[in-house]
Amino acid sequence: MANVSKNSRTASATQRFECVCGGEVKMKSVFSKGKLRFVAQCEKCNRQERRPSDFR
Ligand SMILES: [Zn+2]
Repeated sequence: MANVSKNSRTASATQRFECVCGGEVKMKSVFSKGKLRFVAQCEKCNRQERRPSDFR
């Protein structure tokens, strides 16, 4: 029972999105109009979309 592997964590939350430019899309928290919201931004071309899936 004490023999827990370091790699036992599941990769369930690992969702990766790619921009059309080939850059990686990351979620950013943006504070706008008094509300904290998340936007998806490409690291390469700095394109911003409301959702990571909008980059397709
Ligand atoms: Zn891009």
